[in-house]
Amino acid sequence: MKHENGLIIVLSGFSGAGKGTIMKHLLASYPGEYCLSISATTRQMRDGEQEGREYFFKSREEFDAMIASRELLEYATFNGNSYGTPRDYVEKLVAEGKDVILEIEIQGALQVRELYPDALLLFVMPPSADELKERLVGRGTESPEVIAQRLAISARESQFMPQYDYLVVNDILDESVKQVHEIIQSEHYRVERNHLTIKKMQEDLKKFERSM
Ligand code: 5GP
Repeated sequence: MKHENGLIIVLSGFSGAGKGTIMKHLLASYPGEYCLSISATTRQMRDGEQEGREYFFKSREEFDAMIASRELLEYATFNGNSYGTPRDYVEKLVAEGKDVILEIEIQGALQVRELYPDALLLFVMPPSADELKERLVGRGTESPEVIAQRLAISARESQFMPQYDYLVVNDILDESVKQVHEIIQSEHYRVERNHLTIKKMQEDLKKFERSM
């Protein structure tokens, strides 16, 4: 069954919970099924990143101009940098019936919820707080101060978890990827997302009634 509408899907989660990895595997496992929104950011490009692939890298002035001209659907500050979702891409694809995924932090997710009450909000978390800490330590790239700071941010962010629609407990990566796919697919079959299909079924059945 072709779905009636494209979904706006927000994927958030603690730093170190593995949402980026889930996204990469989701796009690879279900090719052509999902579109990933590429954000604009003022943060510095990291090694291995590419303009227009991970982000559109902007100066502060360019980013502010995007805000002023309402080019961003939502934006927020995270760790001293600004991040925002370009509006055109998301609106165009959803209108075409595509599912678009926004991998964004919580303040942005809540703005999306305000704008699009039927957006689907997923929150990725590790199996436990200890596991989150171990993953951050295990990366070996962050100083103890940065790890403490990340954990403090996670503690604040956890206050907003009840505002999401689904939790994804990222223990085994392949299972989390499958779970995200299944949540999105199930969501398409919610009655309130299928008014046209229901109406058509009702009208077609009425036609039988009349012709009998
Ligand atoms: P990073 O700098 O590690 O790539 O991302 C930092 C945080 O910013 C992550 O939680 C990421 O999900 C979030 N982020 C990335 N793009 C956007 C965006 O367009 N809007 C918002 N609100 N957050 C974003």
